[in-house]
Amino acid sequence: MSDYCGRFAPSPTGDLHLGSLVAALASYAEAKKQQGRWLLRIEDIDMPRTEAGADQRIIDALAQFGFVWDGDIRYQSQHISEYQAALEQLKQQDRVYPCACKRKPLRRYNEAKQLPLGLYPGFCRHARIDTDKPHSWRIKVPQIPLTFQDSLCGAQTENLSQSCGDFILKRTDKLFSYQLAVVVDDAAQAVTDIIRGQDLLDSTNRQQHIQQCLEIPEPRYAHIPLVKDNRGRKLSKQNHAPALDLTKPTLCLWQALDYLRQSPPESLKTASLDTIWQWLWQHWDINKCKT
Ligand SMILES: [Zn+2]
Repeated sequence: MSDYCGRFAPSPTGDLHLGSLVAALASYAEAKKQQGRWLLRIEDIDMPRTEAGADQRIIDALAQFGFVWDGDIRYQSQHISEYQAALEQLKQQDRVYPCACKRKPLRRYNEAKQLPLGLYPGFCRHARIDTDKPHSWRIKVPQIPLTFQDSLCGAQTENLSQSCGDFILKRTDKLFSYQLAVVVDDAAQAVTDIIRGQDLLDSTNRQQHIQQCLEIPEPRYAHIPLVKDNRGRKLSKQNHAPALDLTKPTLCLWQALDYLRQSPPESLKTASLDTIWQWLWQHWDINKCKT
């Protein structure tokens, strides 16, 4: 075994759909090709969006397709204290500050100043905030651009101070942000290689900034093209992507391979699950996903 470690990290907000199967398959195939480990993590930190029972349905579907993960499944909801510890570390380093701003006035301000709507103008960075009242926690971002190398999409550079500004790590409702949780989780699980959809490409520089502040090694990244519906929208649970037909697992895997530009032969559509996996182990090449 190599020290390569990949992962698939679905949110339990609905059933597995083709978009999530594609991400699962790409990360799994590459991890196994590299003779590494592949972990499964349930990203259930955004509790209001979580759907009861969806985690088990996703896990069952993955097993039915023939995925085999290493070790225990990690649930974000069981690791809240680790996210808090990371925030405390950042507090001690003076990297974060409490913010009492409300969404609507921020929006009005940005509209009036013609600033990007997602850009936080830094009002609370030097203000005294009463932490007995509701507040979020924001991380200070650098004025200089950050760059990481994506193995499929090339160099990705972003100046966070111009795109999003100091961003939220812990929300007013006390939920930790995806950005913080994913960084802490990947470090805790010693994930070396992250393969996921391109919808997360433009939040990677934010995660890179958190990694640098926490002195966490930066994993390697490969962002795969998104599966879109016929209106050009990302196939997602929010867009009511149809659930996969689990009575035809081979056909679903064939569609995922086809989507990942692996050119699976037509004859595999009706083959056995074993046969399509055998084909995959012989032919998988992530570089074919390059855009
Ligand atoms: Zn504020």
